[in-house]
Amino acid sequence: MPSTIVIGTGIIGIATAYYLARTHGHTDITLVDRDQPMAFTSAQSGENYRNWWSHPAMVAFTNRSIDLMEEIARDSGNRINMNRRGYALATRAKDIDPLVAQLHAGFEDQAEALIRFHDGTGSAAYHGFEKPDWEGVPDGVDILQDRALIAKHFPGYDPEVRAIVHVRRGGDISGQQLGMYMLEYLKQNGLTRITGEVSDIQAGDGYRVRIETADGPLDARADQLVNAAGPFAGRIAAMLGVELPVQNVMHQKIAFEDREGAVPRALPFSIDLDPQTIDWTDEERELLLQDEDVAWMAREMPGAIHCRPDGGDKGSWIKLGWAYNESATEADWQVTLDDNFPDIVLRGASRLTPALKTYIGQLPRNMHHYGGYYTMTKENWPLIGPMGPEGAYMNCALSGYGTMAACAAGELCAAWIAGSEKPAYAEGFSLARYGDEALMTSIREAGKGLL
Ligand SMILES: Cc1cc2nc3c(=O)[nH]c(=O)nc-3n(C[C@H](O)[C@H](O)[C@H](O)COP(=O)(O)OP(=O)(O)OC[C@H]3O[C@@H](n4cnc5c(N)ncnc54)[C@H](O)[C@@H]3O)c2cc1C
Repeated sequence: MPSTIVIGTGIIGIATAYYLARTHGHTDITLVDRDQPMAFTSAQSGENYRNWWSHPAMVAFTNRSIDLMEEIARDSGNRINMNRRGYALATRAKDIDPLVAQLHAGFEDQAEALIRFHDGTGSAAYHGFEKPDWEGVPDGVDILQDRALIAKHFPGYDPEVRAIVHVRRGGDISGQQLGMYMLEYLKQNGLTRITGEVSDIQAGDGYRVRIETADGPLDARADQLVNAAGPFAGRIAAMLGVELPVQNVMHQKIAFEDREGAVPRALPFSIDLDPQTIDWTDEERELLLQDEDVAWMAREMPGAIHCRPDGGDKGSWIKLGWAYNESATEADWQVTLDDNFPDIVLRGASRLTPALKTYIGQLPRNMHHYGGYYTMTKENWPLIGPMGPEGAYMNCALSGYGTMAACAAGELCAAWIAGSEKPAYAEGFSLARYGDEALMTSIREAGKGLL
């Protein structure tokens, strides 16, 4: 069996090694990371998952990943804390045709069967979201336009909300537990782990990787190499003379204890789709507009602010996030957060969930503010497959969906390495897509979707 060095023990490197060993019996694997497993981007994940995308390949990819996560949940007594309360996308718009069209584009010929409308005229029943785990929850999408039904099931939402698109195959998991579950399997099957920073790679008769460890430099050799270096994937590729079309965009979240019970514990992952202008006082707005560096905070902000309960039914914390940043930056081991973010995201989230206003100006002291990079291609599709030089592979650019897609991404990269049969989406997620103009056009037309 060929030997493999995987650079990066985030969720993507771990999942690649896991499927390489588990499905293909390639157990001569060395995992290299400068830090502990799951310590960088993978530690910052919101850990949400969904099968809602505007392109069928992304739907198939995440559906496959959810199948694999469910398999692990089943086999492990749900160690990964998988639930399935779905994604509730809320809008005040009366016309939701563009949203419905996006669902049709993603689900293609299955859309008719998967989408159920609840506008007060039909007979379809809407099943709520009280079930605490992932089994036995309906598939598909419920579209609620009946205001009384919305008020009954989502009493805490802004009363101006006119429609909710409830994507049922979605929820959250513990990404950390998923990574640990896979690592345990790998350890039992002969995995080698090296802690140190990769500083150089030489090709020729396989790959020689220079690793700067606490005890000095060390050279590791293997027949094959996997670049799963997350935000540093571009740098690792450059060591082999390969330029990857990836960029890093920093995104943040906050988590805090919801002492006032503003967010019901069973609430699905809730997204306010509508753009908004944050309701600063007139005086605050005036001040912000005077300073060009922060004036953006007083102008219209994009939609997709999100909120969810964290830690299960018995927990008391909530998480808020808003991926409004669009500027690419150079990745740094030390991620610089924006001190304004907690206040901005809280005020923004208070629009959909007005009870959150109680925390404005008084977020709990133990509030956790964190962030990391979305490593992404311009079209927001991942890069999985051969990286160029023979025996070198990449599994990167998983943007804001790497936790949910890790299983399918790991499985796919392992299939490329083992030379076994691959799913229909394989070519499209490899570098080959840039030579397929029809595919690139269809990706651009589908749009990036929710980040
Ligand atoms: C704020 C935020 C929220 C998110 N929310 C979600 C979500 O709700 N759902 C979801 O599915 N995804 C989410 N994501 C995305 C998800 O977290 C990432 O896609 C995923 O963690 C990427 O994993 P990775 O293994 O590629 O990268 P990483 O976890 O960054 O792992 C890469 C590893 O490579 C190592 N490395 C790099 N260079 C070197 C080197 N030279 N030498 C040695 N080691 C090296 C690093 O130390 C690191 O451990 C979110 C991301 C962020 C930032």
